[in-house]
Amino acid sequence: MAKADAGSRPERDDPQAAHHRVIVIGGGNGGISAAARLVRKGVTDIALIEPRDTHEYKPLFSYVAGGTARISETLRPQRSVIPDGVTWIRDAVTIVDPERSVVHLAGGGEIGYDQIVLSPGMQKDWASVPGLAESIGTGDVSTHYEGDLAARTSLRLRDLRGGTVVFTQPAGPSSCAGAAQKPMYQACDYWQRIGVLDDIRVVLVVPERTVFGIPAFDDEIQRAVDRYGIELHTDSALIEIDVAASEAVIASPAGIERIPFDLINVVPPQSAPEWIRASGLAAAGDADGFVEVDPETLRHRRFANVWAIGDAAATENSKSGGALRKQTAVLAENLTAVLSGSAATARYDGYGVCPMTVSRSSVVFAEFGPSGELMPTIPFLRRMYRESRLAWFFDRRVLPWVYWNLILTGRA
Ligand SMILES: Cc1cc2nc3c(=O)[nH]c(=O)nc-3n(C[C@H](O)[C@H](O)[C@H](O)COP(=O)(O)OP(=O)(O)OC[C@H]3O[C@@H](n4cnc5c(N)ncnc54)[C@H](O)[C@@H]3O)c2cc1C
Repeated sequence: MAKADAGSRPERDDPQAAHHRVIVIGGGNGGISAAARLVRKGVTDIALIEPRDTHEYKPLFSYVAGGTARISETLRPQRSVIPDGVTWIRDAVTIVDPERSVVHLAGGGEIGYDQIVLSPGMQKDWASVPGLAESIGTGDVSTHYEGDLAARTSLRLRDLRGGTVVFTQPAGPSSCAGAAQKPMYQACDYWQRIGVLDDIRVVLVVPERTVFGIPAFDDEIQRAVDRYGIELHTDSALIEIDVAASEAVIASPAGIERIPFDLINVVPPQSAPEWIRASGLAAAGDADGFVEVDPETLRHRRFANVWAIGDAAATENSKSGGALRKQTAVLAENLTAVLSGSAATARYDGYGVCPMTVSRSSVVFAEFGPSGELMPTIPFLRRMYRESRLAWFFDRRVLPWVYWNLILTGRA
């Protein structure tokens, strides 16, 4: 029963095997903040499984690539963010067996659980675009979706004085999809200030029919596209990098176009980690393999002691850290209720956010729901989605502090 009654301890084959009341998979944004919230609610015997020894604040990667933040601002030792009282298992999960309520580890062995929370993020499918896996991080091909390469993108953009630079945003689910565009606007602002923008052809490839896909935000962001003379390819996707010819192959309803580039910054297609499907935790029809949770309660639809949040969960929101802030509150409420024998009544409303940095000093703070409806959350600032310096200050200066001090400690 892992298709199990709430809160009950499932039977285990080997009573000597390690067991924890709650296991959290992933020590990223979701895993750390969920564990911290559970600790604050008095839950004991929590183990967190995370193989990496460095924690990343990814929203600042866009600023690193855009030349307005240092990579050192984005990184902290994993140990320093794991909440007191939580056992850190420095290993990777290879598979979950939800029927037996155990996880298997890459380092060998298995661990049982009463309740499990999955927040392993998304995998980057470099191999799904021919030419990309072998060229990323080399020559003129970079990305800011990896911290070390964000710094590399930054240097390349800073030194560019002419030629063609291409930025691509993938079709399908993506972690903070609009983040693909942010380094571009900051670089354009820089090139404009030093007087070389006219010598650079800037190409942006997006999957939507408009630059963002939601009218209120499109109006704001399109202004930046026009201001910098960016060549916008909508309804388009990168389908190949011809490394030998340094050409990006772009597909759109109009056909195939080959764009020679001097630099390309690629955000790859993304999907849930393979082992989620192999564990039987994804819905049969979900091509991207996300954990099949009820999008409101965040509880698995078939296994009552399995929960998922963040980028790997089959929720309806646009995937972002801002969405997680609301999800972790609901998860903690519901999980503690279930542990004490009550019903899971808290509901996530599908809120998502994408702070679009459209210059080196302004941001369009796009807050929206699953159907594109506006969902402003900051009191007295319902029009925070208008391009402003205030939104930039909030995103660049305030939110990093909030993340390290309040979100990761389960206070926000
Ligand atoms: C470049 C970039 C810019 C972004 N900008 C913004 C922004 O401006 N605003 C915003 O709100 N959001 C932004 N986001 C999105 C935000 O960072 C993510 O939504 C958030 O980090 C998702 O949290 P998560 O816990 O689901 O996954 P992650 O934070 O990715 O954490 C997943 C963790 O799970 C671990 N893991 C993976 N597999 C296993 C395994 N098998 N076993 C154990 N552990 C495992 C990983 O090592 C990782 O530490 C951005 C993302 C990127 C990449």
